[in-house]
Amino acid sequence: MSYGPIRERLRRGEVLILDGAIGTEILRRDLTWADHQVLSRPTVVRAIHEDYVKAGADDLAPTPAQARPEYRETIGALAKAGCDLVLIETVNSIAEAQVAVEAANEIGLPCWVSFVPDEHGNLFSGESMAEASRTLASLGPDALLVNCAPPEDARAGLRELAAARSGPIGIYPHIGRFDPPEWRFTDEYPPARYVEEARGWLGLGAQILGGCCGTTPAHIAALCRDLWSGVPGPRSELSTPSDSGPRTPDCS
Ligand SMILES: [Zn+2]
Repeated sequence: MSYGPIRERLRRGEVLILDGAIGTEILRRDLTWADHQVLSRPTVVRAIHEDYVKAGADDLAPTPAQARPEYRETIGALAKAGCDLVLIETVNSIAEAQVAVEAANEIGLPCWVSFVPDEHGNLFSGESMAEASRTLASLGPDALLVNCAPPEDARAGLRELAAARSGPIGIYPHIGRFDPPEWRFTDEYPPARYVEEARGWLGLGAQILGGCCGTTPAHIAALCRDLWSGVPGPRSELSTPSDSGPRTPDCS
């Protein structure tokens, strides 16, 4: 899907479901990052993407670009490869975000920026989400999100973003924790509990939901399947654009 229809859905106030983790799912499927296993067994990576699509995620596969001085080169290469949206994720400071968004703007690709929040909902640099939102406003990223933090910290960050910004916001927390060199899986957030958390995200106005490290196709399937049960109003009404309330995504 090209980005145009996605942007239109955000404008209409609809909710989009992203996919979940790729890196930790690779580990869960008994591959490691060592010995070029990911390169030599690409079918595993393809199967993970397919499972997310089957789970009902919007067929939107934003290519993550990590914070590096070579943003321009990376984003330029992505644009040449046909990418039509850049998700600049796991960002820890406003300066990093600025550099990346400016690069995307120069190249002419729309972008979303996702920050890692701390337990107070601030960036790791100590800057607030409000400052981030204000500083980036003139650069015009289409959406601001929080990711790669535990659900409670991510919620704190989302709350700050919601207070600071009227445009689209989103959230995709991680579950489990990083225990170098690899991810430590925990069963603290099975899919049903993840959905419970996500109801709170909708209540805060999130329009873009997904999962970061540790999440699985089962978590995304649960978001698509169960998230709107308990939300008042028939599904058809929820999917009609209006000015209030969460809208169901097209998870078919
Ligand atoms: Zn993550």
